[in-house]
Amino acid sequence: MGVYSVPAEVSVILLDIEGTTTPIAFVKDILFPYIKDRVKEYLRAHWEEEECQQDVSLLRKQALADSNLEGAVPIPLETGTREEELERVIQAVVDNVYWQMSLDRKTTALKQLQGHMWRAAYATGQVTGEVFEDVVPAVRKWRAAGLKVYIYSSGSVEAQKLLFGHSTEGDILELIDGHFDTQIGHKVESESYRRIATSIGCSPSNILFLTDVAREAVAAEEADVHVAVVVRPGNAGLTDDEKSYYSLITSFSELFLPSS
Ligand SMILES: [Mg+2]
Repeated sequence: MGVYSVPAEVSVILLDIEGTTTPIAFVKDILFPYIKDRVKEYLRAHWEEEECQQDVSLLRKQALADSNLEGAVPIPLETGTREEELERVIQAVVDNVYWQMSLDRKTTALKQLQGHMWRAAYATGQVTGEVFEDVVPAVRKWRAAGLKVYIYSSGSVEAQKLLFGHSTEGDILELIDGHFDTQIGHKVESESYRRIATSIGCSPSNILFLTDVAREAVAAEEADVHVAVVVRPGNAGLTDDEKSYYSLITSFSELFLPSS
C-alpha cells in the first residue's frame, strides 16, 4: 500500500464519492438521518409551495403503485383545509418516506423529495459536504498536469453538485469536468465504464477509476479502465485476494503522475 504510478496513457481520473472522496459516514450518518429528522418540519414549512405539492403527488402515485407491498403506507388526499386534516396527510407522507427508507428504496419520488430537502439543507449551511483533506490538493495537481477529473457516483448528479458546491473546502465544482450517475448504468456493470469513456470522448484505457468497492473495480477493469482501490477509515474491508490483486491507496497524495 502507498504508491500508485499513474500509467502514461491516463488522461482522465474518474472518482467515486462514498468511501473515496468522502467518508461513508457522511452519507450514512449525516445525509440520510437529516431526511428522517427533518422531513416533517420540511413538509410543514413548504407545504403550500408548488414544488412541495409536486413532490407529494409523486409520492402519492408511488404509494398507489406500492399498495400491494407488505407494510406499504398509503397517502390520502387532503379532503379539507382543517389543521388536523393537513396534519394527517403530512404524517402519512412522513410514514411513507420512513417506510421507503427502511427498505433502502430508490424510487424517483423518494429521491426527488430527498434532493429538494438536501438542496435546502446545503443552501442554509445546515449540511456541508465532506471531502477528505487530501482530495482538493491532489485534484488541483492533476488538473495542473492537464488531466481531466470526473465523478461517477450512485448519488444523483444533482446531489453530487450540492456536495461539491457546498463542501468543507468551499465550492469546488470548478475542479470537476463532469458528473455521471446511474443514468449511464450501474457501477458494477462494465458497460457503464465504456459509455462513460464514449461520453467523455476518450478510450477506456485513458481513464483511471478510483473506488473503494471491489465489485466496481472488477467492472471497470473488464472495460479496460485502470483502477486503484481506495482504503479510507470506515470503508468495508477487502478480502486478502482483493488486497493483493489491486493497487491500494489510502490518500490521493499516493498517486504519482508520470513526469513529462
Ligand atoms: Mg464508494
